[in-house]
Amino acid sequence: MRKRNTVLAVLPVVAALGASMIALSGPAAAAAPDTLTLQPVAVGTGGAVVSDTVQSTQAGLDVLRSGGTAADAAVAVAATLGVTDPFVAGIGGGGYLVYYDARTHRITTIDGRETTPATANSNLFIDPSTGQPFAFPTAVTSGLSVGIPGTLMTWQRALDQWGHFSLADDLRPAEQVARNGFPVTGNFREEDRENAERFTQFSSSSALFLPGGQLPAVGSTMRDPDLAATYRQIGQQGVGALYGGSLGRDVVNTVHNLPLAPGATLVPRPGLMQLSDLARYTAPDEAPTHVNYRGYDVYGMGPSSSGGITVGEALNILSNVNLAGESRTEALNDYLEASQLAFADRNRYIGDARYVNVPEQQLLSPRFGKQRACLLDQNHALTSPVAPGNPYSGSTSCTPAAPTTASKPNDGAATNHFVITDKWGDVVSYTNTIEEIAGSGMVVPHRGFLLNNELTDFDFTPLQAGVPDPNLPAGGKRPRSSMSPTIVLHNGKPFLAIGSPGGATIITTVLQILINRIDFGMALPQAIAAPRASQRNGAQTQAEPDFLTESTTPGLEKLGQSFYISDTSPLDPSIIIAPTIGEAAGLEFLGNGKILAAGEPVRSGGSSAGVIHPTS
Ligand code: GLU
Repeated sequence: MRKRNTVLAVLPVVAALGASMIALSGPAAAAAPDTLTLQPVAVGTGGAVVSDTVQSTQAGLDVLRSGGTAADAAVAVAATLGVTDPFVAGIGGGGYLVYYDARTHRITTIDGRETTPATANSNLFIDPSTGQPFAFPTAVTSGLSVGIPGTLMTWQRALDQWGHFSLADDLRPAEQVARNGFPVTGNFREEDRENAERFTQFSSSSALFLPGGQLPAVGSTMRDPDLAATYRQIGQQGVGALYGGSLGRDVVNTVHNLPLAPGATLVPRPGLMQLSDLARYTAPDEAPTHVNYRGYDVYGMGPSSSGGITVGEALNILSNVNLAGESRTEALNDYLEASQLAFADRNRYIGDARYVNVPEQQLLSPRFGKQRACLLDQNHALTSPVAPGNPYSGSTSCTPAAPTTASKPNDGAATNHFVITDKWGDVVSYTNTIEEIAGSGMVVPHRGFLLNNELTDFDFTPLQAGVPDPNLPAGGKRPRSSMSPTIVLHNGKPFLAIGSPGGATIITTVLQILINRIDFGMALPQAIAAPRASQRNGAQTQAEPDFLTESTTPGLEKLGQSFYISDTSPLDPSIIIAPTIGEAAGLEFLGNGKILAAGEPVRSGGSSAGVIHPTS
């Protein structure tokens, strides 16, 4: 989960320097750069962007102004985030893009998830010297965790289908920011601090992120000329530079010969990736998941992500109760239990559908939602963990929640989510990631970007003895994700686009925002800002401190719900982090071309929302 930073927690924060840094050439050069501030809400027409940094939102708006589509702007935004928010995503990672095409009225998704190398098997994370699974932090900071990156291929696939400009054109704003520099924010420094110890293990990482052996000061100028050159090379040579070319060779070399610093104490565990793995990588188009929730058509990401199915199943369960008519305590209890039941099914049934049989249709059927809904208990919290249901039974009768001993899978940690719409009405909802904050911790030497640790999203061993686990590693397989980029239509027209980072909490954040907006009638900015709680079939529910101060919480505890606050790093419990959940970005289409762009007012320092023609 992304961190709230105390320096930036007080809004409004003026972080306008980025705009002046984007001296564009190419198609976007005609744009007159606006001076954007870090603001969570904007209303207007003609197109909109919500992303995590001022520079990335500015880059997206400039591309839109120059005649680019939402797909062009998505590449510009994502590439710029790779510079200004490098610890959570970039070309060393992967992600999922959901696209609404205004011409065809179709929603398509691109699966840009990382894959394992072809030679991997289910023992990927078993230590050969002990026969036991590696400790999670050991696996993360290693070559073994690095999946074949899918981000660049996603960008090319999006441009092939919906772009007006070339990849080189759309990379140019990011190249400029990387070369000219940008002011270090409190959030940047915070994420750097949390990983400083790991960076000191790698000469390439410490050279980039600990200049002169120090954390960069807030407000100082950060540059990444290596990444600028890498973007330039990709622009000239195309994505083949990575998928089989010289950039790919550098990635493979890094994974095999870890760039350890003199005096590093880390035991090097090289990975299995070969250039042939990169050469065969694809980012396929997939049909979106779909459920109808109270008249709204909710489209999300199918496997290899569990996001669309789990959000959809939980909504189907909640369709059986009248959240708006219940007391706040009852409604929140239903929300927590619907999420808990859907997570039980997620963990049991969802993995990469090319490798395991995922009963997507059954899990998303209203009939199965009804079967699971009869377990919602207004008088008591469910006993955790609840067992998965049987989506194959076709029955709507109540199946008792038999006890289970299944353990919880690893939860991911960080990414970014952004949303874009253009003047034609196309919509992008795109979540991309390198998994943990700072991924594997390894910067590719002289290339300026971090490599992911996405493969640690696999279960290292089966979650329950004797029960098939859909999320074990195998050669070429994609680890199950929780990323949930979502687009909602109403009467066939875009209504909402929403998503968030936060590992497995992404699912509950998207779910909570949807019910806040649709059932509880909150405006989108309030639906995003509201305190969050995340029940993922654990004995306790993860909550933000503000959720626990809500007046309803005592009522929930009386029902047997209990909560915890997560405020330490999953890699090092001695590192204290902010106990927030997610960092959402959304759009609402208000009719007559008017767009409400909304992000976070406070979490992780706040979002940057912008529109082409602001209106009041
Ligand atoms: N690796 C996580 C996932 O795919 C994403 C990380 C995050 O979003 O925090 O679910």
